[in-house]
Amino acid sequence: MTLQVKPKLIIHGGAGSSLQGKGGLEAVRRSLYTVIEEVYSLLLAGATASEAVVRGCQMLEDNPRFNAGTGSVLQSDGQIRMSASLMDGTSGRFSGVINVSRVKNPIELARFLQTSPDRVLSDHGSLELSRELQVPTYNGLTDLRLQEWIQERQDNFKSTMAGVVAEPELAQSSNAGRGTIGVVALDGYGKLAAGTSTGGKGFERIGRVSDSAMPAGNYATSHAGVSCTGIGEDIIDECLAAKIVIRVSDGMSLQEAMLRSFTEASKNARDLGAIALDATGAISWGKTSEILLAAYHNGDTIGDTLEWKDGELIGYC
Ligand code: ASP
Repeated sequence: MTLQVKPKLIIHGGAGSSLQGKGGLEAVRRSLYTVIEEVYSLLLAGATASEAVVRGCQMLEDNPRFNAGTGSVLQSDGQIRMSASLMDGTSGRFSGVINVSRVKNPIELARFLQTSPDRVLSDHGSLELSRELQVPTYNGLTDLRLQEWIQERQDNFKSTMAGVVAEPELAQSSNAGRGTIGVVALDGYGKLAAGTSTGGKGFERIGRVSDSAMPAGNYATSHAGVSCTGIGEDIIDECLAAKIVIRVSDGMSLQEAMLRSFTEASKNARDLGAIALDATGAISWGKTSEILLAAYHNGDTIGDTLEWKDGELIGYC
């Protein structure tokens, strides 16, 4: 099938406070660009927005640097529980899993649920589903995340969050930020999808539910798609992804919708970030946190937000 519009792509690897070393920054940039390059070529080859989003999320889940899939942070009891969701803007369907354990790619379960009558499953149901689908058991624990948790345990869980990316130098300062992943794509047929996957905040109470498998953290219509990162409670309180998407669906430009929503979030002292695309091909990103680890393909070139200066709430191209 020939492409009708120029595909667009934006991905993120979390938000939080600044990366300590330039080495960390370059490594994150390389990781994000590898995903952008592969997923953008899929879009050029005719992949749908949902297919591209799922592939991008899988690649980011498989990278131990990010807090999703392999390399997920541990909760207060030392266990990994992951959440992921997928929203197809064309069908208007949201699907997801909440607090699933022992699977490699939670986004694949979310994808399977797209066509199921029951589209959001919690821990027990997600586990049953992965058994039913004969998904192999997988342990996404990495040494760095374990060290981070042991350190926190020794400090009596003073930090309320785990590190934004898993880097040896960051394992010592575990309150450096967050590190969920997300992908938003506009395919060559003009259709949008958004996906988000997370290991959660890290060190949280058992049963805590992340925004990542809620429309507050991940949402898309035929007009726009958004994936969020940051403190889930703040994202839920702002209902950020759905709010931005609905503003665009109601006629606001993406840039205006982002600016209005991030101005509100900043006034409310929230700690969060988001990536967004609309059906016209506009790309935008925003943050109230110190950094947002995002990269995009605008149809011509790849760019990123890694050295984006403080002071501006949103960026766009
Ligand atoms: N939003 C995720 C959560 O609160 C964390 C993150 O974005 O890093 O579960």
